[in-house]
Amino acid sequence: MRRICYCNITYKCNNHCRCCISHNVRKGTDRNLCLDDYSFFQRQFSLCSNDVWTISGGEPTLHPGFHDIVSFCHDHSKHIIVYSNGRTLSKLPKEILIKIERIIVPIYGDEATHNEYVSNSHAYRETIDSIMKILAYDENKLDIKLLFVDPQKGMSFLKSPEWNNIIANNHFSISRVIDDGLQNHCRDICQSASDVLDSLLDLNKVVRFYDLPLCELRRETLSRILKSMDLTSVYDPNVICGSTERRYTIFPFNKQADYFPKCETCQNRLICVRIMQNYFAPVIINGVVHIDTE
Ligand code: SF4
Ligand code: SF4
Repeated sequence: MRRICYCNITYKCNNHCRCCISHNVRKGTDRNLCLDDYSFFQRQFSLCSNDVWTISGGEPTLHPGFHDIVSFCHDHSKHIIVYSNGRTLSKLPKEILIKIERIIVPIYGDEATHNEYVSNSHAYRETIDSIMKILAYDENKLDIKLLFVDPQKGMSFLKSPEWNNIIANNHFSISRVIDDGLQNHCRDICQSASDVLDSLLDLNKVVRFYDLPLCELRRETLSRILKSMDLTSVYDPNVICGSTERRYTIFPFNKQADYFPKCETCQNRLICVRIMQNYFAPVIINGVVHIDTE
């Protein structure tokens, strides 16, 4: 089975998101993984060309050794996934960019909504500039993650002038921010998410979706998802989580995802909460749902 080695290489971040899920980022933990940690994980687990390196943070591109870490991982596997807020990606040299399989970049809404959420007045422009630069070179490099933060506004980014260009990208993720205040609006968010899912699927985009209770989606959208599924997972559910000083834990990423008491017996549990409890997400490719990494 394909293994995943997931590391938060730094907890520094140039955004200050309202609901940052990283305790260490919020606390300003000053701890970086180094190449020696990576060499150790490689020796320990003998990761091979089919395995996945996931590089996250904080904002991983702020790590002074980011390029070296990407190059090290690339020597062992071409499957490198990076989580980035996108602000500094425009400065990434092409020889590093080329080594990364997929970069997940979140967008929280139009310029005002995004900047307000991440508490930085330059963030949106810088992120969009990075996206446009990378998109001009490769429309399969980025996974643009559309997050719903305001149930009233829906996904305001789709009404922005930038969206007309960004729709050229091939990979999208749809999710909602996990925030207690939004739980009450889950149905409204899922209804908006249904519209976005439908539009992207109509354009035959590759679409991941997570943290959305499926029974709250529009019925037509749900039927479309359930029509064709291949849920054979090729991934080892035990993710290797690397930390500094050669420490690691191996565990199934398990976030709380039992939304309702009825989830326990629901027939859609496998592609809904079961996947979301771990580090996996349903991805729709050419109309068929598969299990893939977030
Ligand atoms: S960009 Fe990511 S790491 Fe940085 S504050 Fe926002 S959620 Fe946290
Ligand atoms: S598992 Fe729970 S949230 Fe998902 S569709 Fe079933 S009842 Fe809804």
